[in-house]
Amino acid sequence: MSEVRPSQLGGITATKYISEYRDAGLVKGVIAEIRRTVTRPWVIMEICGGQTHAIKRYGIDQLLPPEVELVHGPGCPVCVTSLELIDKALAIAAQPGVIFTSYGDMLRVPGSSRDMFSIRAAGGDVRVVYSPLDAVKIAQQNPDQQVVFFAIGFETTAPPNAMSVVQAQALGLSNYSTLVSHVRVPPAMHAILSSPENRVNGFLAAGHVCAVMGYWEYPPIAEKYHTPIVVTGFEPLDIVQGILTAVRQLEDGRCEVENAYPRIVTFEGNRPAQDVIDRVFVECDRKWRGIGMIPASGWRLRPEYAGFDAEERFSVGEIQPEESPTCIAGMILRGMKKPHDCPAFGTLCTPDHPHGATMVSSEGACSAYYHYGKA
Ligand code: SF4
Repeated sequence: MSEVRPSQLGGITATKYISEYRDAGLVKGVIAEIRRTVTRPWVIMEICGGQTHAIKRYGIDQLLPPEVELVHGPGCPVCVTSLELIDKALAIAAQPGVIFTSYGDMLRVPGSSRDMFSIRAAGGDVRVVYSPLDAVKIAQQNPDQQVVFFAIGFETTAPPNAMSVVQAQALGLSNYSTLVSHVRVPPAMHAILSSPENRVNGFLAAGHVCAVMGYWEYPPIAEKYHTPIVVTGFEPLDIVQGILTAVRQLEDGRCEVENAYPRIVTFEGNRPAQDVIDRVFVECDRKWRGIGMIPASGWRLRPEYAGFDAEERFSVGEIQPEESPTCIAGMILRGMKKPHDCPAFGTLCTPDHPHGATMVSSEGACSAYYHYGKA
């Protein structure tokens, strides 16, 4: 494990301001170094949808040599939330006396037969919040109603979601609950790399997830699957530096964990944030949309917080979700296909009329390809 120093990056010197991380000259310098380094084809997966959007927005994939193929990973929380859970959320939101709160993207994700907008149109009280603590406030202000927060996301959103439960307990709120659908990155990497269909030779790990969790969970994965993992940021220079670091490892036959985002990420991560996650959540198996069940890939509320579990509080009966037969998002999230391989892309499925979650979410790969070009 090591940190990547600026002097290792094709002569690039230290950067100080955000504008430097978007400097076209610096980015082209690193890409020239990638061209000088690469000799064979490699498939590199960026884990995070934020990285996918930066890659498409700045045309980074178009600038890379043909030997380097980028595929897009499952790091989009809206995209991987199971349809079953979305249908459950819709069923809870439709109940009288419920104020259902969620981040904005989730409102547009289609369930099997409806979305949150249709619940709202039918008189349901569905609200967008920017933080789960806003949902706790709504619960304080509306003691006669049940307030539910849709707690989705990766390791990045888990600490504030856990804090909301701690705060609701401290306030003695009995009308606040969370519908938890947290997912974790390392088990998804295991699932991708152990698949017989795997094409991924190296990973760009998501910098913001590692800012919370550190990268101490990654060395066993790199070693087990002989796959380099590079902790990578989100600006264009961050991304090409991550790619260069991964390509160097691949060309050298190394499989290490390197940190190309040391201005934000440490090996240990944010221990207080990890502590609050441990206090409130416990690992569980989790079903990922398009991928299926991944053992120990999620978090659920600990038994001592069961009183804040919306799944315990609301009986919504048996849910039988029905996936769109045309959507290939699952294969896209595993790096096996690209959005333009989908026959519905840009025709039947657009951001205004999405068929799948990867077109809805601001971090979805289909949305990135639609907004920034279809190549
Ligand atoms: S274009 Fe639409 S239907 Fe096709 S994979 Fe993407 S989200 Fe699914």
